[in-house]
Amino acid sequence: MMTIDWKQSLKESVVDPAELAEILHLDQDEIAPVARCYPLRITRHYLGLIREKDDPIWRQCVPDERELQDLCSLPDPLNEQDLSPVPGLIHRYPDRVVWLVSNVCAVYCRFCMRKRQVGCTAATGAPADMDAALRYIRENGSIRDVILSGGDPLLLGDDRLAEILASLRSIPHVEIIRIGSRIPVTLPERITPELCVLMKRYQPIYINTHFNHPREITPRSRVACAMLADAGVPLGNQTVLLNGVNADPAVMTELFRALLAMRVKPYYLHQMDLVRGTHHFRTRVEKGLEIMTSLRGHVSGMAVPYYVVDLPGGKGKVPLLPGYERGNSGAYRLTTYTGEIVEYREL
Ligand code: SF4
Repeated sequence: MMTIDWKQSLKESVVDPAELAEILHLDQDEIAPVARCYPLRITRHYLGLIREKDDPIWRQCVPDERELQDLCSLPDPLNEQDLSPVPGLIHRYPDRVVWLVSNVCAVYCRFCMRKRQVGCTAATGAPADMDAALRYIRENGSIRDVILSGGDPLLLGDDRLAEILASLRSIPHVEIIRIGSRIPVTLPERITPELCVLMKRYQPIYINTHFNHPREITPRSRVACAMLADAGVPLGNQTVLLNGVNADPAVMTELFRALLAMRVKPYYLHQMDLVRGTHHFRTRVEKGLEIMTSLRGHVSGMAVPYYVVDLPGGKGKVPLLPGYERGNSGAYRLTTYTGEIVEYREL
């Protein structure tokens, strides 16, 4: 397969609402106000996957007026801001931290749970923040697992990434490094032989990628995942349950089977977080349970992810299984990992 310069590809992505409107035959006034509030970027690769208006790819990347109409949800329902001991670091569980090392993405997903900050120039990622985050990890011996997130960590250059990985590997109590990245989906040419060498050098590194629909699995994304797997990187996948995109048992079955066949283990199926600007993507919990019921017994257990809700307030993820009962008030009574019972009420 021809080598493509990923930095050039990134430069050529669509960021201007006027250009997007022209390509998709849209009225610019429909998308420009949305893009002023929540940034726009779509790589040519991802844009090329759109077949028609409002299809599953379109819905994930084209600004939608409904993003500005959702006013009852919170920008940060998981309370990440308050769980940050230093800027850019989220410490929610005792033994692991999420480190936001980048605030940019190859495609700005319209459903993003961090849409309050991704693509914003004022967000974290400055070198001073990086030093503070590293110091915090170094001084907290209980941290065994560091999850690099963002934005997309794989949009950092190889040198910067190597610097971060080497710093983490110099901390004896950090056992596992995880990277959350949608790059294999949106900019697969970023997975280069040089990047794979880096991944191998600082292993164990786990990469959780983010395929939401079978049409995102392309020959190029398959090559990207195969290169990482061949470099010894265990691959998982986090899918978000999205109304109008993948909230369908047949679509999910196809997606999870295809992922497993390309050495990507379906890890989480996320109930949409209650994030402002994403209301139109949200499904009922019943839909997720229906999908989980349809998977059980019909696809390999290896292809079945955990269906989880990330509880508002930063109380952590709770797996949902078919058969959960609702309380009299209509809310779900869920037990957190600390044993606390929390009522989860849908909006
Ligand atoms: S790639 Fe991830 S962090 Fe970036 S916009 Fe999409 S969901 Fe958000």
